[in-house]
Amino acid sequence: MKGWSRLHTADNPTEIGFVRGLLEAEGISTRVRSMDLWTAAVEIYFAEGARPSVWVSDDDLERARKVLAEVDRRGSRTDWTCPACGENLEGQFTACWKCGQARDDND
Ligand SMILES: [Zn+2]
Repeated sequence: MKGWSRLHTADNPTEIGFVRGLLEAEGISTRVRSMDLWTAAVEIYFAEGARPSVWVSDDDLERARKVLAEVDRRGSRTDWTCPACGENLEGQFTACWKCGQARDDND
C-alpha cells in the first residue's frame, strides 16, 4: 500500500493489540496486515501461520519508531511480579490487575 510502511511484525495477537494501543494513544493511525490481507478483524490474527504486522503511514513512521523505542527502553514488555500480592503480570500492564498495586518503574 503506497504511503504506508511496516513498523512491526508481531508473534501473536496480543502484541498487535498492545502496539496499536500505544500508537493510537499518541494519535498515530495504524493498519494491520495479516496473510497478505489488510484487516481490522481480530479473527484473522489467529489463522494458522499468520504473523500480523502493524503498518503506519510514512508521515508517522519516525514518530512511531520512537514510541516503540521508548517502550523498549523502559523494558515495559518484560513480565513483572506484583510486589504486593505476587501475581505474575505481562509487561504491558502498569498496575496489578488483581490488587491494583502500581508497578515500580525503578526496579
Ligand atoms: Zn497485586
